[in-house]
Amino acid sequence: MKTLAMLEPLTTRLLEIQRINSAASVLSWDQETYMPAGGGEARAEQIAVLQGIAHEKLVSPDVQSLLSQWVDPATGQAAEQPGETWDEPSRSLLREVWRDFSRAKKLPSDFVVKLSRECSLAQQVWAEARTKNTFTRFLPNLTTVLQLKREEAQYLGYHDSPYNALLDVYEPGATIANLRPVFAALKARLVPLLKKITQSRIQIDDGVLRHSYDQARQLEFGRLVLAAMGYDFERGRLDLSAHPFTTSFHPTDVRVTTRIHEHELQSCLFSCIHEGGHGLYDQGLDQRYFGTPLGDSVSLGIHESQSRLWENCVGRSRPFWRFFYPILQQTFQNQLRGVDVERFYAAINCVKPSLIRVEADELTYNLHIMLRFEIEQDLVEGKTKPEDLPAIWNHKMEDYLGIVPPSDAEGVLQDVHWSFGAFGYFPTYTLGNLYSVQFFEMAKLEIPNLDDEIAAGQLLSLRRWLEQKIHRWGRMFTPAHLAERVTGSTLNPEPFLTYVEKKYGELYQL
Ligand code: ZN
Repeated sequence: MKTLAMLEPLTTRLLEIQRINSAASVLSWDQETYMPAGGGEARAEQIAVLQGIAHEKLVSPDVQSLLSQWVDPATGQAAEQPGETWDEPSRSLLREVWRDFSRAKKLPSDFVVKLSRECSLAQQVWAEARTKNTFTRFLPNLTTVLQLKREEAQYLGYHDSPYNALLDVYEPGATIANLRPVFAALKARLVPLLKKITQSRIQIDDGVLRHSYDQARQLEFGRLVLAAMGYDFERGRLDLSAHPFTTSFHPTDVRVTTRIHEHELQSCLFSCIHEGGHGLYDQGLDQRYFGTPLGDSVSLGIHESQSRLWENCVGRSRPFWRFFYPILQQTFQNQLRGVDVERFYAAINCVKPSLIRVEADELTYNLHIMLRFEIEQDLVEGKTKPEDLPAIWNHKMEDYLGIVPPSDAEGVLQDVHWSFGAFGYFPTYTLGNLYSVQFFEMAKLEIPNLDDEIAAGQLLSLRRWLEQKIHRWGRMFTPAHLAERVTGSTLNPEPFLTYVEKKYGELYQL
């Protein structure tokens, strides 16, 4: 049996590439947290240089000749002769390195540079267009980026639709053909459920979340919850940024960020828990494999499942607040005096069709994603022209959520993703929502009395379970295979639908 030790010439090179990428990530983290605004252009160049070097090292003749000894290019799998097989980690490592290498190799380096520049430019123009609420300002840049992404799909190759080539970047194995029935199932049950909720005689008042809450105390509470989740502050930090995110330079240095709004208690709270879920994944990766795909997260969908599991299945549950609400009440005595835990639980689970995706409740969130999934697919396939986007966006908003944005800033311009070319990224949010419930249901079966533990503020059994079942495996298995190993089933919308129907059926007495 051939083992990982034999791949050392390759893993040494991969480690070097990873260190360059980690350095670029430190620069990006700094850009989002502490860099003065004036540093933007210089920083973009610094990061581009590092990314260029990393790309060149990956597609080097050196790496190519090593891979050609060990991988069968026809199948993309480890080459094996009778009596000479690889162990499972080596087989997975070779499959995944080949995937990264062959993708990178298909893109000409002048194309990579051009795409990077145009995206960086478009992102700046998008920010301005959103502030000024002028879609036409952004239109030329969007058109250019879209054209380049369509070109990228041609370079990469695809079956059925160029959109499939882009989807696969974020979620290996995802295709329109396997996502469409999932979204259809969601739409068929979520749209009527939402209608029943909006017509329910129960109206939840979430005004309590909008009192004035001291920002430093909000942050302190977020930190307390992160620590309870098992987020290790010896190997991580919590900072502030305009958009909360998580980044990792190594499992021993994983950064999360949050934002604080004085009059929106839920914002800092749930972004801490959400990013904490991402952070635990990155801290839970196996250090021995750092630099190789076995030490890397498997997909954006699975990553998002970790954040959504903590944010929704745990953080918006009754057991969680049975323990944490008295602490929160103690922290904000004036604001929460006389508000019982049941009223608070209802407030953080209030369902309301809203304009902005990132503020959506866990039920309507997927409708926001479905709309983007349909639109970006048509854009990449050339069925929709960028100039028609605002009208199409508003039409679909009315269709799915029953509301029409009064401005493009609150409509088609709200998300940054398309400006930096991330077509195919949005569906991974919904995959994360669906996987999160699949995983949590399994955790409840396998951890005795999990609800009681959570209600006692003990969250570490859950963290350990996730680490053992998901985090430590890196990219050993494909996302679908991992889900099957953990839950006995690949992606399945049913557990999520049952969960929301039960939760909201009870809350709104449907
Ligand atoms: Zn996330």
